[in-house]
Amino acid sequence: MAIEKVKCLIIGSGPAGFTAAIYAARANMNPVLYEGLQPGGQLTTTTEVDNFPGYPEGVTGPQLMEDLRKQAQRFGADIRSGYATSVDFSGTNRIVEIDGETKIEAQVVIISTGATAKYLGLESEEKYKGLGVSACATCDGFFYRKQDVAVVGGGDTAAEEATYLAGLANKVYLIVRKDHMRASKAMQQRVENTPNIEVLYEHVTQEVLGDANGVNGVRLLKKGTEEVVINVTGFFLAIGHTPNTEIFKNFLELDEVGYIKTKPGSSHTNVSGVFACGDVQDPHYRQAITAAGSGCMAALDAERYLGSLL
Ligand code: NDP
Repeated sequence: MAIEKVKCLIIGSGPAGFTAAIYAARANMNPVLYEGLQPGGQLTTTTEVDNFPGYPEGVTGPQLMEDLRKQAQRFGADIRSGYATSVDFSGTNRIVEIDGETKIEAQVVIISTGATAKYLGLESEEKYKGLGVSACATCDGFFYRKQDVAVVGGGDTAAEEATYLAGLANKVYLIVRKDHMRASKAMQQRVENTPNIEVLYEHVTQEVLGDANGVNGVRLLKKGTEEVVINVTGFFLAIGHTPNTEIFKNFLELDEVGYIKTKPGSSHTNVSGVFACGDVQDPHYRQAITAAGSGCMAALDAERYLGSLL
């Protein structure tokens, strides 16, 4: 297999990857960016984005990603379709295999492969994705003002998203599969103290209901026996995310969930010349703008690293 040598390789095409590409291209690092399986990343699955600075009227997720892509291309970033299938970070140069058929040897690698929200795996959930089913309350909650919505999950994210939505929606059902929540006590207390949240313990989602206008209810099974239908127009998943780090685990330090560990306040991983940015290293904020900010950090860190080699 022939090896192509590049100065800067960026893996992943969300806000982090494209921002890294913009900065790297402007710094004459000739970045090559592989877009991965979901070009544009998670934002391409949302509709309106109202909280990305610079768009006073809002922008759709796909349009925002197209704008970032074009901006990176304007400065000469080489954006390619392809999926990183394996890496070898054992030598001085970093080797990344694309689609199992092309090898790239890079002086610096910027990883921005993101995280994937977990879904329940129901057919009906898939059917109404973007039509009432969402995995991001901060992104989509605004569209459910004064409506009734449901959040599924029992961890900190579910508690946080339910509380956030309670500030916008008329009523929030929090669907918890066990008889208790896993969220921290403080978060649980916030949920309990919010009058328009109703926690449905020991309820398991069976089906998301809807019609051509989108979601209009959820069918639940209570304590394994009784069927219950709640009328909601929004169904929010908050059952965790899976960082896309499988191919890196033999070389990079990951936390217990699988997020890449970066040195605090930087994008440096434990391998010199390999940097991580965006959701792949961020279990906390997970916003497009924080991902973009960390993409900028990664490009600056990579530029300084390359400068130190001269
Ligand atoms: P967690 O993995 O902590 O929780 C996932 C929740 O989803 C659990 O309650 C789990 O139920 C439930 N769940 C998983 N699969 C299903 C399913 N198929 N059906 C129904 N329920 C399901 O993920 P989080 O995203 O909540 O948190 C991730 C990490 O980020 C944690 O460490 C958390 O503390 C942290 N975090 C911190 C915040 C903060 O400090 N402000 C805010 C958000 C996250 P079960 O309990 O039954 O397994």
